[in-house]
Formats: sequence, C-alpha cells, structure tokens
Amino acid sequence: MAHRRQSLVPDLADLVLPRTCAGCGVPGAILCRRCAALLAEPHLATPRRFPEGFPPTVAAGAYAGPVRPAVIAFKERGRSELARPLGAALALAVAAVVAGVPEGWAAPGPMALVPVPSSAAALRTRGRDHVRELTAVAVAELRAMGVPAEEARLLRRRGRLRDSAGLSAAQRRANLAGTFVATRRPGNGLLVLVDDVVTSGATLTEAAGVLAADGRPDAPPVLAAVVAATPRAPRETGTGGQVDQLSGPGERV
Ligand SMILES: [Zn+2]
Repeated sequence: MAHRRQSLVPDLADLVLPRTCAGCGVPGAILCRRCAALLAEPHLATPRRFPEGFPPTVAAGAYAGPVRPAVIAFKERGRSELARPLGAALALAVAAVVAGVPEGWAAPGPMALVPVPSSAAALRTRGRDHVRELTAVAVAELRAMGVPAEEARLLRRRGRLRDSAGLSAAQRRANLAGTFVATRRPGNGLLVLVDDVVTSGATLTEAAGVLAADGRPDAPPVLAAVVAATPRAPRETGTGGQVDQLSGPGERV
C-alpha cells in the first residue's frame, strides 16, 4: 500500500508543479545531482555538547546549505516525493554505521530500523509521519543491497501512561519519565534508530536509552542513522569523523 501511494505522488506532482530541485531550485529533478551528492558524505555526527549516552550516529550529510531547504520541503512543505532520495541517503547512513560495527557485535536477526516517533501534534499538523516514510524507503534500499532489514516500531511518544503489565522494571521506569516508551521488546538484530536530522543529540540519546533499558547486558549498543546532522560550527562541512572510528562497546558512554 505504501509503495503504491509513493509511486503515485510524484506523478501527480508532475502534473501540477514545475519540477525544481528542493535544495537549490534549479529546474529538473526533485533533488539535483549536486544536492544529492551532499547527502552521500556519511560521517559520524558529533553534537556540540555530546550528551552522555549519545549513540554512535552516522549522518548522510551535513544539515547546511541546500540540504536544509530540501529536508524542510520534505518535512514541513508536503513534498513527500523527496522520501525517495532522502530515504536513500538514510539507507547509506545506516549501512555506514553498521559497517563500523566490530565483528564481535554481530547480531543474528535482521537489522531493525527504529523510527523516532513524532509528537501527536506534529503528526496532526503534517498529516503524515515523515520519518516512517524515510524508514520505508531506507528498508527497501537496504534490502535491494542485500542487507536484511526491517522497520521496527519499538518506540512511541509518551502520552497517557501506558499499562505497565508485561514491561520490565527498566521499561516501567522509562514509562514514568521522559518522552518515549517502548512498545515491545526488541528482537535479536542490531537496533538502528532512524530520524531526519540530529542537532543536539538529546532525542536520539533518550530514545537509545529507552531501547537499551531492556537489552541484554551483552547486547550490541543501539546505533543511529540520520539524513543530516547539524554541523558543529557554521564553517564546518560536516565531515567531522570517519565512520571506522567505532571501535567497541561503550566507547561513547
Ligand atoms: Zn540542487
């Protein structure tokens, strides 16, 4: 169903809108080659205040220059056809963060892409869940690359208190404090949180903490991948770290 809807949207957009690059505005593709190339620079995201517990996170590009209007057009202006190029960028970031995982962390199950849930208010305003749209494309891209991957909606925003039956003690604590709650226990594959943009890292840190709360002590750490990361300083291009710097569990704790 999702695939069908995605395939129809660009066709309708073609009929009513002139196609311009959502990044730089040149006529032609919805995201021109030059702008797409800015989202093919996977690098470790390094938030300025590096929160304790921030998961190893790879961004496909820097949230700067033409990438900003492209992401905003997708997220806030309803240009859902951008899910395809931006989701492909997200898949690249996922592949990069997983490639940095040492052998010893190998997990038996398929990799689980866990979308960071939007708030109920944001979902109402946008009328759609843009992170899940990105996730669906990224899963399809990864599978096309031969990587077993699936979407796993393991988190939801905290609204009303959830019935805590069936939750572990750690999950119950998380249920009482914070933004996210676990909806169910993770499977036995690597967990990769996915989101559109990382800025302070607070959201990914909290989400990773909730996911890890119920993990086995020897479980691989929760990883994260995003389309774009806010550069640490305006002049930085975002190539702040090499992905192969991941070296072992606990490095970033
Ligand atoms: Zn462009």
